Amino acid sequence: MTATPQLTSAAVPKAMRAVSLRTELLVNLTMLATATLMLVVGSFVAFGHLLDSADASLYLTAMIVADVAVFVAFGAYQIRRLILKPVEDIVAATDEIAAGDLARRVPAGKSPELVRLANAINWMTNRLLEERSHLVRVEKMASIGRLAAGVAHEIGNPIAAISGYTDTLRRRAGGSGEVEGALDGIERESARIDRIVRGLLDYARPAPRSRHAIDLSDTASRVVDLLRGQGALRDARVSLELASGLPAVYGDRNEMEQALVNLLLNAADAAPAGGEVNVVTRRAALSEIVAEKKQRSGDSNEVDVPRAPNARLHTWLSAAGHPKEMLQIIVSDSGPGVADEDKERIFDPFFTTKDPGMGTGLGLAIVARLVENLGGAIWVRRAREGGAAFVMLFPILPENARPGVASVALARSGA
Ligand code: ADP
Repeated sequence: MTATPQLTSAAVPKAMRAVSLRTELLVNLTMLATATLMLVVGSFVAFGHLLDSADASLYLTAMIVADVAVFVAFGAYQIRRLILKPVEDIVAATDEIAAGDLARRVPAGKSPELVRLANAINWMTNRLLEERSHLVRVEKMASIGRLAAGVAHEIGNPIAAISGYTDTLRRRAGGSGEVEGALDGIERESARIDRIVRGLLDYARPAPRSRHAIDLSDTASRVVDLLRGQGALRDARVSLELASGLPAVYGDRNEMEQALVNLLLNAADAAPAGGEVNVVTRRAALSEIVAEKKQRSGDSNEVDVPRAPNARLHTWLSAAGHPKEMLQIIVSDSGPGVADEDKERIFDPFFTTKDPGMGTGLGLAIVARLVENLGGAIWVRRAREGGAAFVMLFPILPENARPGVASVALARSGA
């Protein structure tokens, strides 16, 4: 849990202004010792003359017992107030959490030490919640994948047959306008079903066995060139910020290309006419990845890019052993962005906000699957351009981690 300090630090600075538990205990015990001493001296001044009487030892014992009783009573009160009560509150809350109430949070307490303890437990509870919903989602996706593969195979053959019958009918129709129109409709809708079936097969495709060394920057610039050549990016201003000499990602090159194609097409679709689409490849440090806010050089102070902890990110980081550095590729745009409540759902198959017939809702589900096959993680956050930024992380494998290769080749151009 190396990331804990960064994630729990938010409430600590305020608590730091409070007196630490150690100082408060020391001050209280010093005051107590001073008060006891004064009581002893006072007792001697007030009752000193009794020590000359026959019951001197009795009086002396009574004075000592009274002093000790005051010391113990006040000490016990302070220890209860400062330590026992807050610890009891924390134990009560953790008992409820352990019993399954994951919505319960530990109260913060007054001293920085107790705030830190409460933050750490609350952070663990949040992670537990995230992990649990992530697991449920992964299991759901796995069963959708199996179902999709079966359905796609069953639908694929009838669709091919419908295309064949349509051709036959078209030849026989002899150019009748109404029949031609109906046949066009059948062809159009069959093509749409075919697209969905292909998407389902892509989504359900098992991880490929072949593993090549993939240069992220090279692949990104090739995919952008390809899409530009097809005119798919003509309405957007595309800029590339690609680091040269990055360590390779290992996996299937086609899968990396397909993931980038899907993300770039979505970005171009989301950006308004003449809007921005950016692709960045870089080496990224763990500290910047888990930081809640980060500014890129050149950002003004008003640029506020919140990076809330993300279940996809944390699950991947935990599985990867919180590597100090990793490879990052970001596809961002100046479109409307993704609403907070949709940030996880957009990776579900069939989730689409497009009009019926315009989107299948399979593009990002396929991207998530491909990125997983490539050993990486993907999530979405708000982009500096105002729209969505799809961030992908890939591990730097030890044998491939060459130091000092972070020189950045900046290539900016319009589409
Ligand atoms: P489709 O594009 O067919 O709807 P996707 O899986 O590619 O399917 O995308 C799912 C949804 O995610 C889209 O309908 C859209 O709401 C949202 N989305 C994807 N990319 C972006 C983006 N760059 N900006 C804003 N929303 C996006």
